[in-house]
Amino acid sequence: MALPACPRCDSKKTRKLADSPVKGKWEIYGCDECNYVWRSTEDLGGIDKRVEYLKQKAVRVWD
Ligand SMILES: [Zn+2]
Repeated sequence: MALPACPRCDSKKTRKLADSPVKGKWEIYGCDECNYVWRSTEDLGGIDKRVEYLKQKAVRVWD
């Protein structure tokens, strides 16, 4: 299954970080570029997309 694009910066460099304890309920994804982390069941419609700002300010917390 393809990874979702980042809902905050539209990056395709996302990864799955975790699965729900009950299999198939939800997944947690993270963005490599702005370090946003979200759950697959969240409502992501209200996110403010400030792409360049977020990429400049991102602090890498994992590799
Ligand atoms: Zn992002």
